[in-house]
Amino acid sequence: MSDYIVSARKYRPQTFESVVGQGAIAATLKNAIRAGKLAHAYLFCGPRGVGKTTCARIFAKTINCMNLHEDGEACNECESCQAFNEGRSLNIHELDAASNNSVDDIRALIEQVRIPPQIGRYKVFIIDEVHMLSTAAFNAFLKTLEEPPAHAVFILATTEKHKILPTILSRCQIYDFQRMSVENTIKHLQYVAEREGYTYEPAALNVIAQKADGGMRDALSIFDQVVSFSGGNITYQQVIQNLNVLDYDYYFRLVDLMHEHRVTDCMLLFNEVLTKGFEGGPFVSGLASHLRDVLVARDPQTAALLEVSDDIRQRYVEQAARCKPTWLYSAIRLCNACDQNYRTSRNKRLQVEIMLIECAQLDEDGVGAGRRPARHLLPIFSLLTADGQAAAVGTPVVPQQTGASATAQPIAQNPTANTASATPSATAATHPSVGPVPAETTQQRKTIKFGSIGGPTLRHQSAKSGSTTVQAGIANAQPTGGNSDATTSSVQSATTQVNRPLEQSEVLVSWQRFINSMPREETAFAQRMRIMQPKITGEGVLEVVVENEEVEKRLSAIVPRITEFLRQDLSNSSLTITLRVTEHTVEVQRFDKRQQLRHFCDMNPALIELGKAFKLELV
Ligand SMILES: [Zn+2]
Repeated sequence: MSDYIVSARKYRPQTFESVVGQGAIAATLKNAIRAGKLAHAYLFCGPRGVGKTTCARIFAKTINCMNLHEDGEACNECESCQAFNEGRSLNIHELDAASNNSVDDIRALIEQVRIPPQIGRYKVFIIDEVHMLSTAAFNAFLKTLEEPPAHAVFILATTEKHKILPTILSRCQIYDFQRMSVENTIKHLQYVAEREGYTYEPAALNVIAQKADGGMRDALSIFDQVVSFSGGNITYQQVIQNLNVLDYDYYFRLVDLMHEHRVTDCMLLFNEVLTKGFEGGPFVSGLASHLRDVLVARDPQTAALLEVSDDIRQRYVEQAARCKPTWLYSAIRLCNACDQNYRTSRNKRLQVEIMLIECAQLDEDGVGAGRRPARHLLPIFSLLTADGQAAAVGTPVVPQQTGASATAQPIAQNPTANTASATPSATAATHPSVGPVPAETTQQRKTIKFGSIGGPTLRHQSAKSGSTTVQAGIANAQPTGGNSDATTSSVQSATTQVNRPLEQSEVLVSWQRFINSMPREETAFAQRMRIMQPKITGEGVLEVVVENEEVEKRLSAIVPRITEFLRQDLSNSSLTITLRVTEHTVEVQRFDKRQQLRHFCDMNPALIELGKAFKLELV
């Protein structure tokens, strides 16, 4: 027990040559020593356990060696080297700044710096975790660091370079230590295992190296832990059991199950993972990294990025061959979404299970069975006013015309439309396109029901008949009732010259403009007004449909203001506004989703086919 030395100490490298994974830094330091060009301060930065202190010690030993080898390595035989190796050298001073960070600690160190070495040429001061020094200590140290005696060399080590003051940085030669690659870590573990006479499975060392995440000291501590647990026979099973690591095998199986749409088996597998004591969170992130690895394994070039042993790499390559990239993207996306929601979720298990179900329902190309179709927001309010038959307002400009004409029917009974019906025959005569209704119009009326499609069709027609869009509007309105012929532009030209004819689109713009000009205290009502759509129902007559008497009362209070505004804005001095409470609010019911879907299916039977193809539950 007493002579047990942990592997991290026992196998701490003694020469630059044996330093693992920091070849470039070791070579640079060796060259500097050989050339006799030593700086008086070095800063070693990098994550923990990658060899900063080790390199600092080797450096200290080497510059003091009395028979330096030609390649720049210490001889390990001379008096100085032996003193270093036995840990009794007086030429090396280590200060852990994490626990000794006061000004007094630094002052004590500075005292030491003044005394020249008894044996050897240099005194080396290693300050570990130098970023932990207090600002006062830093400042006390600064002077010495700048002008140290010729025999002093400082080596500062830190895991957090960004915390080092620029004044310190500028006085040091900086070396950045890299994280250990999994490959290097494995090699070193193999070396240690062979020296100690342990047997091992490569996959087991792989798991240890991955768990250590780039730190050799961590890797060796885990290694020691596993060795004591397994009695020198390091197997994969023992390692994952001891380290509480989830077996690769689960993920391989899970992805295969998902790919075969075996939802139940996925759920059972997840349950098995939970009963083994694993948490859902690490499971999900593990699945995401597994999927990433499968994606990476698709390409022989990127497969090299996988930091796994060869037999497992082969499994990745095989699984990758079965999965399309699009499937993998979708699955990764679902995993990520689940990962993000996991922490905030109250029912964490459900979160994961839903993700598993969704993944298992992805088809070959990664299209989800449960994916909702893209949502188009229908203009709800025009739907209401147009009695469900004409959701007119799709594109903002042209369909407004149709909107006006489509609502013509209820207006026919309305006394306010009187002026409009004044000159119907005249209009019909002056515009030949109005008389014979083109065959297209009936089709159009179908399409107009879903206003967004109506826009382009209308424009197309007007171009064909060589008349303006307004006329197209009239032609379109023809079957609904005669009075709508009286849409402004035609009438306008016959009767008044002073007032500019009203244009539905301009009216709407002007209406919004008025709302924008409303004072702040009317904001709430202004919002209400935004969804109202005044419609031209006759010459200079706008009709606003409101939902109830209450709104009518409030609106009528400001109608004079609106009229004034619109008259100016639209250059039409005879413009008047009438209000009408909609009659449909009671009988018009909103479509529920099922009805909407049924309607869409009637419109386009291919939808049903689509539903079947994607195994959707439609109506
Ligand atoms: Zn030596």
